[in-house]
Amino acid sequence: LRWWERDEDGGRCRYERELEALLRAGRDPRPDADPVSGLLRIHVRATLRGQVHTLTIVYPHRFPYFRFEIFASPSLAYRRHQSPDSGALCVLDQGGANWSPSMLAADVLDEQLRKLEAANDASGPYAGEVPAPEPVSMYFDYANDSLLILPREAYAIPADHARGRMIVALTSMAPLRGFVERVDEAAATLPDLSRALPLRERIACDWVRVPAPTSGNPRTVAAALAASGHLRRPMATSSRAPFDVVALLFEEEVEYRDVMGPGWAVLVRRPTPQGWVAELIRTEWYEPQTQAARIAPIAALSTMTVVQFGCGGLGAPAAHLLAQSRLGRLRLVDGDRFILGNAVRAPQGWAFAGFAKVDALRALIQANYPETQVDAFGWFVGRSVSAETGVPVPDEDALIDAVFAGADLVLDATADIGVQQFLAAECRKRGLRYVMVEATPGGFGGIVAIVHPDRAKPCWLCLQLAIEEQLVRPPLDAGAGMLQLQGCSTPTFTGAAFDLIPLSALAVRLVALALCASETYPLPAWDVAVLSNREGDDGVVGMTPRWSFLQLQVNPRCTEDHSGV
Ligand SMILES: [Zn+2]
Repeated sequence: LRWWERDEDGGRCRYERELEALLRAGRDPRPDADPVSGLLRIHVRATLRGQVHTLTIVYPHRFPYFRFEIFASPSLAYRRHQSPDSGALCVLDQGGANWSPSMLAADVLDEQLRKLEAANDASGPYAGEVPAPEPVSMYFDYANDSLLILPREAYAIPADHARGRMIVALTSMAPLRGFVERVDEAAATLPDLSRALPLRERIACDWVRVPAPTSGNPRTVAAALAASGHLRRPMATSSRAPFDVVALLFEEEVEYRDVMGPGWAVLVRRPTPQGWVAELIRTEWYEPQTQAARIAPIAALSTMTVVQFGCGGLGAPAAHLLAQSRLGRLRLVDGDRFILGNAVRAPQGWAFAGFAKVDALRALIQANYPETQVDAFGWFVGRSVSAETGVPVPDEDALIDAVFAGADLVLDATADIGVQQFLAAECRKRGLRYVMVEATPGGFGGIVAIVHPDRAKPCWLCLQLAIEEQLVRPPLDAGAGMLQLQGCSTPTFTGAAFDLIPLSALAVRLVALALCASETYPLPAWDVAVLSNREGDDGVVGMTPRWSFLQLQVNPRCTEDHSGV
């Protein structure tokens, strides 16, 4: 049964209530069901701008969980809150926040049409209007999956400059995808996108300043601009890009309310046996400040260098998070190879099997987070000679100096106590903060800790003594934690990604806090966080996960120099 054929709880039919309310409001409702889409529509009368109009209420299939849409004739031509092509009126804000299933269309119409009239009165805004700009480009009917990345240079073209040339790097022809390398003579300040978006074809095309399109339909836009003399006849760009590309620059509302600024769309015309078909290509601007604004407290990470040792089940998600946090430079150190089985705990999946782990992560990050520079060092710390091949690695002392050069912090995800001891000592010597993360067998729990280089503060050995004294004691699966899989190799770790990722996430959070600490974003008071994914070593899940936090003390048994305490 469709919604209008069903009774609501209490026995009344929602459809009858909708219709009665519209009748009572004098809206002369005339329903019809569209046999193709199965949607119920009710046409109603409304007085807008002093004239009687017919509006169409279209109810969704899953009404009243979801709200209806209201359409008016596009000729009503409201400048605000109306789609120029479909005529849809924006009467309730996007999403379900302002919708309640008990609301009747008749009531919504009464209240919202009054607001629409006020909003489209030059004297607006009306009280309660959401302060959102309405750029005309938001109503464009864009080609699916297409995108052209524009640098900020494209938004700084002087107003009297009416047309010019662009160099566009195309990474895909259909859907059209790519980025703008030059605007007129200005080179774009984009991060290195060549690995993220491998070049298929570099083209030169026109850009033209045009009046703001009054339609989002590509065919209508192309016809109107051709008629007004803004477009030349289409011509294939090159034999490898056999279509015409022209970038359109226009004024649109960029800030609420009536703050105008440059907007861009790209018109592509492709030849067919019947003539040329038009497409509009979505554009998005790249500007480092805009990217940073979403993660303002940690924006300074973009100038920092983190050295990360270990790219396994904890390290790989950590590296992914650091790249998402727009870290400036990430040095990855791990000698291991990525195998199919690692996909259960890594953001990189089967496509990367067989790669060195550092190379797999570098490829993943360069392809998706090109603002982060990745240096990959494929060696196992402490193994100066390969056991398999007998080949010595290049001078390890030199490698250590190279990875530590200019580092702001070290993240240790090796979970190897020998490596931890060495790295913690090296950090203390070099005055660097050291963050470590490790998980217990079975993924039953784990710890995240920070060690500061100050002599007066507890050191890595103090942490080890606290672990020995069971002050720090996450649960562990003593039996089945390590699984010896077929073949001659070291036993592999067991544990699910969702039990381990919280450890990686807290470690990266600690890195961000340590590097960006401020008055409003201070370092936490704890040095060690202990995660329990089980109640105890017997594996009872109970009321977990649970974190506990500890402020480390200098251990009286510690043999490190803590003079000055
Ligand atoms: Zn100590």
